[in-house]
Amino acid sequence: MLDLQKTKLAVEQAYQQFSQIPGGANADYIPFLANIPGNLAAVAVVTTRGDVVSAGEAQYRFAIESISKVCTLALLLEDWGSEVVQEKIGAEATGMPFNSVMALDLHGGKPLSPLVNAGAIASTSLVKAHSVEERWQRILLMQRQMGSGQIALSAELNESEQSTNSHNRAIAWLLHSAGYMYCDPMEACDVYTRQCSTLLTTVELATMGATLASGGINPLTKERVLKPENTPRILAEMTMEGLYDSSGDWAYTVGLPGKSGVGGGILAVVPGVMGIAAFAPPLDKVGNSVRGQKMVAAVAKILGFNLYKGA
Ligand code: GLU
Repeated sequence: MLDLQKTKLAVEQAYQQFSQIPGGANADYIPFLANIPGNLAAVAVVTTRGDVVSAGEAQYRFAIESISKVCTLALLLEDWGSEVVQEKIGAEATGMPFNSVMALDLHGGKPLSPLVNAGAIASTSLVKAHSVEERWQRILLMQRQMGSGQIALSAELNESEQSTNSHNRAIAWLLHSAGYMYCDPMEACDVYTRQCSTLLTTVELATMGATLASGGINPLTKERVLKPENTPRILAEMTMEGLYDSSGDWAYTVGLPGKSGVGGGILAVVPGVMGIAAFAPPLDKVGNSVRGQKMVAAVAKILGFNLYKGA
């Protein structure tokens, strides 16, 4: 049983030790992200029992970015089941940067992972919907059900991304030409860009992790939002590709499924126990939050969680 007092101390210690370490730089290919104050930092834990522990600016709303891919994958698994997702998107690491075109070229245009841009755009296109608005609303609803009803689109961030996403548009057309695009490519890219442009708090991100940790029940709303058989698939995909091309290093050093985004957010899941989230904008070269990785890893280490250790 997780000791709440120890958890509070672990979160506090992780924050004190790593929330202001130097290194990294804000993502600047999306203008909105370049302007976020780089010294903001937060770390939070939400347990499967519904306990919430946090330190720092845990109510600050930041850009979900790539972490949205986890929610869209969840929706896809609910819509289609695991075999269709494996066949039409994939369940492998690319070993390449998150927006790699070379990764597509090397695999006959198959995106391999729903957690890189190509796979996420293909995933967005596969969500069951009759219109662009329905596609978007279903994805937003999943973010809200897994995290919180407060999660919402930032019009300013969306505008910033939509006006600079030519690389993702190119990826959408490449997917189309290879037969891995399941709606109009520009509709998929539009909705994918919106799903990256929602804002959430570190506590809401940890809640998403807790929903995955509890087999699909949001521990704060008590609502079942995912079938229990789908959460292990999501966690497996997170293990393979959640921290892009340093997912292997993360598994080796931390030993927990994780997912990061270029907005500075990062999430790790301890199955059956909790979600651990952190936020700090400066990123390493791969695109993962420098301080966020350290804070999440520290909480896991202090509390003794590593999936490969066993009980
Ligand atoms: N919206 C970003 C993009 O598509 C998300 C990337 C990320 O967080 O890795 O480039």
